[in-house]
Amino acid sequence: MKLFDLHCDTLYECYENEKNLRNNNLMIDQSKVSGYNHYIQFFALFCGVNSQNKNALWKLDANDRLNALLNEAKKQFSLNGDWLIQCYDSEELDIAISKGKSAAFLSIEGAELIPTYEHLQKAYDAGVRMITLSWNYQNKYATGAMFDNDAGLTYEGKTLVDNLVKKNIIIDVSHLSEHGFWDVCTRTEAPFVASHSNSRSVHYHLRNLTDLQFSEIIRRKGLCGINLYSSFLSSKYKSSFYDALKHIEHFCSLGGEDCLALGCDFDGCDNLPEEIKSAADMQKFAEYMLKHNYAQSTVDNIFYNNANKFIHRML
Ligand SMILES: [Zn+2]
Repeated sequence: MKLFDLHCDTLYECYENEKNLRNNNLMIDQSKVSGYNHYIQFFALFCGVNSQNKNALWKLDANDRLNALLNEAKKQFSLNGDWLIQCYDSEELDIAISKGKSAAFLSIEGAELIPTYEHLQKAYDAGVRMITLSWNYQNKYATGAMFDNDAGLTYEGKTLVDNLVKKNIIIDVSHLSEHGFWDVCTRTEAPFVASHSNSRSVHYHLRNLTDLQFSEIIRRKGLCGINLYSSFLSSKYKSSFYDALKHIEHFCSLGGEDCLALGCDFDGCDNLPEEIKSAADMQKFAEYMLKHNYAQSTVDNIFYNNANKFIHRML
């Protein structure tokens, strides 16, 4: 089976805890994804959170953080080039897949990492093709939903939206405040992504999308990746496949089957559905959906085809 995942923080974990993408105790490494005959992953460069990890990124300034993460990505991709190819566009993606390799794209989680246009350019040159305007807090561009859901984009944030559209970098509205989300919609007609967000109607959480927001993503033919973090799936401490399926079911009921993908949040959260120990177990989630009367074509669309088509339209 094929897997296209829009969001993981594995590279950040590799940096802070000196792990290798080939073989580690994280959610993603070579052996954990080798069962998928096509595997495409957006690897996020995460802006960083206060941690006690050996190489705690938050102690560095924005410039050094970006450099550290870009160097980490370069190092890991070069050490794993025999099975994982970094792609800059869909043409390179097709080549990687045709050679039987897994494909990696870079994204940024938290535009704190790109405080100036020069930083944005540097990230672009290194292959970054998707950027969340905020993480959970406030930066010079935007504010996270968890910090202040009513705060909109700043003047610099609106300019950043213009620059992302011009450079063909996909706008990612996951984490963004609701006000910021609608500011993006006013500023551009470009399709965008919520790389790892669920439905607020199914489980009330500020990180989840309202029906109106999801409908806007459908209207502009964007994409929404289902997040497997238990806190975003249900109010239970430990979630299950059942909880994840309820979000998919609701989004499909709004007419969003063609806009749904996966944004598993591997290595970015510490509490996943009880059935999932690593990326390898997504196979079990596909089987679970099939057992619950989802057509093979729907499962294939959500697990791979929708994201693959979107990337071919955008990059
Ligand atoms: Zn996140």
